[in-house]
Amino acid sequence: MSDCIFCAIAARDIHGRIVHETEHSLAFLDVNPLAPGHTLVVPKDHYARLDDLPDEISEDLFRTVDELVPRVEEAVDADATNIGLNNGPAAGQEVEHVHAHIIPRFEDDGGNPIHAVAG
Ligand code: ADP
Repeated sequence: MSDCIFCAIAARDIHGRIVHETEHSLAFLDVNPLAPGHTLVVPKDHYARLDDLPDEISEDLFRTVDELVPRVEEAVDADATNIGLNNGPAAGQEVEHVHAHIIPRFEDDGGNPIHAVAG
């Protein structure tokens, strides 16, 4: 999709701080992080909603999240993680390209997990 910011990152048309890549998924640092190491995992192809994803791509996306969580936690010495996916505008999805948030959490960081995911 031509005006999609995450498609542009996947196509390397604009700069993204890419940390990992698989056949179908791309992970990069959030430009406005809620915590150090806040990472987004997206399908390389454009899909607006979770239920638009073909099974193979959905499986790759969630496997990638699963594999990245301990690596992100280790990288920033986090104690825990919020994993979230805002699915649709009424749920707080602002970028209409499926993306899972990996948000590192720290003991006594004072955050609210629901708000951390919703942004
Ligand atoms: P919310 O902003 O409510 O979290 P989303 O779930 O749609 O809504 O999240 C979009 C996320 O994409 C935000 O965390 C935002 O900081 C991030 N973002 C927007 N543009 C870029 C970009 N160019 N590179 C990296 N992250 C981006």
